[in-house]
Amino acid sequence: MQAVKTFEDWSEKAKRLSIQGKAFINGQFTASASGDVFTSINPATGEILADVAKGDAADIDAAVKVARASFDKGVWKDMHPAKRGAVLAKWAALVREHQEELALLESLDAGKPISDVMAIDMRAAANTLEWYGAAIDKVNDEIAPTAPDALALVTRESLGVIGIVVPWNFPLLMACWKIAPALAAGNSIVVKPAEQSPLSILRLAELSREAGVPDGVFNVVPGFGETAGKALGLHDDVDMIAFTGSTQVGKLFMQYSGQSNLKRVSLECGGKSPHIIMRDCPDLDKAASSAAWGIFFNQGEVCTAGSRLLLDAEIKDAFMEKLLAAAEHHIPGNPLNPDTTVGPMIEEAHMQRVLAYIETAKKEGAAAIYGGGRITDAPGFFVEPTIFDGVTPDMTIAREEIFGPVLSVLTFKTEEEALQIANDSIYGLAAAVWTRDVSQAHRMARKLHAGTVWVNCYDPAGDLSVPFGGFKQSGFGRDKSLHALDKYSDLKTTWIQL
Ligand code: NAD
Repeated sequence: MQAVKTFEDWSEKAKRLSIQGKAFINGQFTASASGDVFTSINPATGEILADVAKGDAADIDAAVKVARASFDKGVWKDMHPAKRGAVLAKWAALVREHQEELALLESLDAGKPISDVMAIDMRAAANTLEWYGAAIDKVNDEIAPTAPDALALVTRESLGVIGIVVPWNFPLLMACWKIAPALAAGNSIVVKPAEQSPLSILRLAELSREAGVPDGVFNVVPGFGETAGKALGLHDDVDMIAFTGSTQVGKLFMQYSGQSNLKRVSLECGGKSPHIIMRDCPDLDKAASSAAWGIFFNQGEVCTAGSRLLLDAEIKDAFMEKLLAAAEHHIPGNPLNPDTTVGPMIEEAHMQRVLAYIETAKKEGAAAIYGGGRITDAPGFFVEPTIFDGVTPDMTIAREEIFGPVLSVLTFKTEEEALQIANDSIYGLAAAVWTRDVSQAHRMARKLHAGTVWVNCYDPAGDLSVPFGGFKQSGFGRDKSLHALDKYSDLKTTWIQL
């Protein structure tokens, strides 16, 4: 068994990292066509980590061309599904073998606490590749129940070239939730990582080659959203965009599709998830820890963050005491310190955005009872874990996604009122209810407008067998589970008259 690593161990290892910043096209690391680069910054220190190829439309076009060629040649699509599965399994094993290096890249690039990256992101990324690899040769096609003089086959066909556009908060994991089912289904891929966090995916690309993914099947083009991302969205030879990111940019991808080849689009977008504590909550201590974790985990940069805490007025005082105690366990610090659970905001502009929400909340009359400002004695972009009491549903911080460690506390008196407040949002990604009453749990779960409802827990360790995605402006299409395979294939009917 390996010894637990200290801050010094991780820092030493970080110094020895070799960082690749070039695009990965056709199995080769390649400079951008323009020769331009941008710098990747460590948000915990403000230091430059690496120069990264600044891909634009020309690089996207080059990657789409090789992806199309590999698809048309059938080097991956026509491989026996079990063989594709074996390649994905090997890739998963390589991710496990190199998890410390990948975790370090991710922690340095995105400011994510190293212990969480190791325990959650790396484990889940490897599991996802393995899970779809294991699943793909166990999914059968259909024969339709026609009259006896016909045989109608309903078969799934790979779609073609998939563009994958992902955010910076879980760089490798969000990508793997799409890469694994898309590749398992036989497609070729072009990934456009977030400009803030391209490094771990570029290393993942190198490992794909070692695992046996044929050249051209898996490509990564780093670059900015307005150039590289837009070029992928508008490309006439891309069959589908699988996007995770903000609702605002998700809407742009719908427009790009309409302006180009009507490519399919699946969207995993923002959230403003309600975390509801009923008066008969079975375990107030556990619920309070979950409420703190639900907003401060990954410094609140989580699409499913439980950013609206809805408390039954009857238990509010008792709950708040426990919540404030639980918040003390989430101390911001250097992400390479294994004890750190809250890192910096991804970049200065985002930190300013989060701080502006905090100021707006104060102006609108909410009370900052915990935190409420920038941490100034650290070099990076740190915001204090913050709790606002006295929030009303009309306030900006109760309506807009902040994507930082800022919790809004609201109160209700009845189940109906809790549901009304919870559903009063443009988003519908996730929700949670704590209650001892099984009827109430089912009733509320049915009435909550959310793609996932947790009962007596908050976002437990991701089980791949369940679908994940949103209602309303949180998007459509699902990641995870066998359902994710549907969006990466088309159905074909072959009708044989007997
Ligand atoms: P973002 O929408 O700004 O960026 C996401 C991706 O889109 C990045 O790769 C970016 O370069 C690209 N992009 C940006 N502008 C673009 C444009 N004009 N054209 C084409 N591409 C463009 O989001 P973000 O700030 O990186 O991530 C935070 C958001 O992601 C939050 O809203 C969060 O809720 C959401 N998110 C959702 C899920 C989910 O599964 N539902 C998971 C994680 C994050």
